Amino acid sequence: MTASDPKKMLKQIEHKTAKANKFRKHNLGKKRTCGFTTKKCQRCGRIKGHLDQYRLDLCRQCFRDVAIKIGFKKYN
Ligand SMILES: [Zn+2]
Repeated sequence: MTASDPKKMLKQIEHKTAKANKFRKHNLGKKRTCGFTTKKCQRCGRIKGHLDQYRLDLCRQCFRDVAIKIGFKKYN
């Protein structure tokens, strides 16, 4: 079994329905409907340091990379 990705593990035991259901219950991530984890950076997928202002939808690190291309200008 590969332990790196739980979805891969689920694929290996899909034919065993009872075992697969138990695996889904305890090991797969929960789908969120609210909270800060629903907002992800569109460029890299990072959760923390998210910028919603001006509908950027980027994390702060990606914003630093892309800011000049988008049209932001750094004063001082
Ligand atoms: Zn990012």
